Amino acid sequence: MTTILIYNPEINAIERYEREESQPMPYSEGNNLLVNEFRGSSNSTVLWSDRRAIEAFNVTRTNWGRPIYVGFAFKRIWEGGHGCQSQHYAGVSFDVAQNLTSAERAQLRNLAESLGVWGYVEPEYLTPTWVHFDRRTGTPACAAGYPTLRFGSRGVYVLVLQDALNALGYTGSGLDGVFGAGTQNAVMRFQRDRGISADGIVGCMTWTELACDARGAGQTATVVNP
Ligand SMILES: [Zn+2]
Repeated sequence: MTTILIYNPEINAIERYEREESQPMPYSEGNNLLVNEFRGSSNSTVLWSDRRAIEAFNVTRTNWGRPIYVGFAFKRIWEGGHGCQSQHYAGVSFDVAQNLTSAERAQLRNLAESLGVWGYVEPEYLTPTWVHFDRRTGTPACAAGYPTLRFGSRGVYVLVLQDALNALGYTGSGLDGVFGAGTQNAVMRFQRDRGISADGIVGCMTWTELACDARGAGQTATVVNP
């Protein structure tokens, strides 16, 4: 059984599910997206996503009219494999269609763009052998990447934040997607250690330092696996 955390924006809360690897992801229609497809190469005992990302996949699958092969989706930030502030660590990204011809991939990429359900569809010159689309949300704290987080924030980016803090030994924040007092304290300790103004707000500078250090750090003793 795998624990799956889904941020549901309709109630501004993290929902918790227990699923087998061969079962569909929560909010997935039919067998469009199974847990093991979403997991990809991640070894984590917990996976997370945003309801909007799963629903964007549903719409894309329905309009495509046949199964969409998913090569990679979720990774935890300490597993690495992507950029410092990758949407894959937030569980809202899909790298798909590795099994198609380049002409078919172009069709799927065009479809994904035209549907308007994704926050970003990567252009062909960046990922010529697969299609990357993601349902990112919020305004990036830097020119790109994760949004600013503060006390009271909720969602998949708070999960990335907590995961990164835990991986670097700034424990006490748990892994629940809710930016509470424990998360704020951990952020302020990290900021003090890095000489960043300890305001407890995760903006561009804090995200840059934290995400790049936690990326690919490996599973440490302080990583939380609920
Ligand atoms: Zn990708």
